[in-house]
Amino acid sequence: MMRPEAEARRVSVRGVVQGVGFRPFVWRLAERHGLTGWVRNADGVVEIHLEGSPGSLDAFVTELGDAPPPLAVVEDVSWRPEDVHGFPGFDVDVSVEGAAGDRLVPPDAATCDACLRELLDPDDRRYRYPFINCTDCGPRFTIIEALPYDRARTSMRNFPMCEACRQEYEDPGDRRFHAEPIACPVCGPRIELRDASGGGVEGDVVELVGSMLRGGAIVAIKGLGGFHLACDATDSGAVRLLRERKRRPNKPFAVMVADLAAAREWFEPTTEEAAALSSWRAPIVLVADRGRLAPGIAPGHRRCGAMLPATPLHHLLLRAVSAPLVMTSGNASDEPICIGNDEALDRLAGIADAFVLHDRAIVARYDDPVVWVRPDDQRPSVMRRARSFAPSSIDLACPVRVPTLGMGAELHGAFCLATGGRAFLSQHIGDLDTEEAMAAYRSALDRYREILRVEPELVAHDLHPDFASTRSRGWPCSIITRTSPRRWPRAGWRARCWGSRSTDWDSATTERSGAASSCGVRRGARRVSAGCGPCASPAATARRDTRGGWRWRSPRRPA
Ligand SMILES: [Zn+2]
Ligand SMILES: [Zn+2]
Repeated sequence: MMRPEAEARRVSVRGVVQGVGFRPFVWRLAERHGLTGWVRNADGVVEIHLEGSPGSLDAFVTELGDAPPPLAVVEDVSWRPEDVHGFPGFDVDVSVEGAAGDRLVPPDAATCDACLRELLDPDDRRYRYPFINCTDCGPRFTIIEALPYDRARTSMRNFPMCEACRQEYEDPGDRRFHAEPIACPVCGPRIELRDASGGGVEGDVVELVGSMLRGGAIVAIKGLGGFHLACDATDSGAVRLLRERKRRPNKPFAVMVADLAAAREWFEPTTEEAAALSSWRAPIVLVADRGRLAPGIAPGHRRCGAMLPATPLHHLLLRAVSAPLVMTSGNASDEPICIGNDEALDRLAGIADAFVLHDRAIVARYDDPVVWVRPDDQRPSVMRRARSFAPSSIDLACPVRVPTLGMGAELHGAFCLATGGRAFLSQHIGDLDTEEAMAAYRSALDRYREILRVEPELVAHDLHPDFASTRSRGWPCSIITRTSPRRWPRAGWRARCWGSRSTDWDSATTERSGAASSCGVRRGARRVSAGCGPCASPAATARRDTRGGWRWRSPRRPA
């Protein structure tokens, strides 16, 4: 029975609040404050009905936005008075979510501390299990096939839950409540080792690969958004061999180390760089090199790309090798990164001495993100928007009137889908000068349109007639024929901004208009200068916002 002074409120929470453990967080918060009612996912929002004392209700609403789960982004909390129904307890409504609406899809997250502790605990049932995850970590966009986000619409649908996993999945008090990729050694995906010719190798995969890497081998390893090629970063011979086989003579390699202590042993990260390294996004961060790695890692560069493990498998391998590992994209030269087992065995043959495969399909192709800390204000800035950043949206200063697609440039290709006040920038896809790259571009674009349910009515592309992103045969023809959108050729940087990278890190609303130009020279809004013809563009439309970030003002609408 509710006390006579009880009030009721209907709270609505908007932002990245679905698929990130938000409902169990609400359940725990309600239990702590002695509130009754329910929580449920609705279109793009989480709705909560609360009953209790006015003081507890106020405290609940305050805490809701102050300390959300790590992967959640609370953009707005609103409430209105409701009638008191006298609910006996607090329930989590697990009904299927509605239409996509403006639902924001969570990106993938690196292994959280709680899962890492279980991974390394011999008494835990997921000890050394390479696919351990929870609502705070693990794969998201790379396994989602469709929305609403639940297991049946991910590449985890081929792995029926065992009884122990199901109990965790259905318990609102468990940190794996509705963790869609939940898995264990009994019911979940498995890794396997293949030799250079694709033949199976029996034994403990992690230990075998560890000894191979220590012996100077190059190993292809299936990760979250694609394959990596790995070798011992202290072994000059292995690094040289990898450069020869990958036909990559000079471009720097990223190096993965076991943890922050190891990062400080091999590099000299500043406080801000260390914070970026250990964030849930686990990006590659450019840091000062101590000069202790093989000289071929980043020839001619004073800084090196360092990263911490992004998956449980990475944690296990780093511990097995006890050395930093080169972790470079699993591709040959400038081709797109491999994501399928057969594709990797085929395309990386002749490069890798062994393959670590697994049976969970990668749905979305993602490279690792690259971040640097700007020396002027010590703020992290994104150089390559990829895994764990895309498909997070960016708030536009001026909403678009019609769903709009920006095709981007030719080098460092990416696209942008905008609808209403949100822009969804794709992940970095790479230079679009090969058929494989354009196929990856089209596949990513189709996927964004389908998942986000945005059908562009206006397509902005560069005036450059030879850009693959402009040429008709490179266009996603399905869009043209299905919706016949207007084409909007734009000179220079405007069209490119409509398909450029965002450099925001900690805010979904801060965008700097840095774009990859057609001549391949990166230009931020503060440094737009002479370049190839159409790239020499005015910076006036971008302005510094009050928080020290950059906000891009939407260009004028076409007539
Ligand atoms: Zn976790
Ligand atoms: Zn299980």
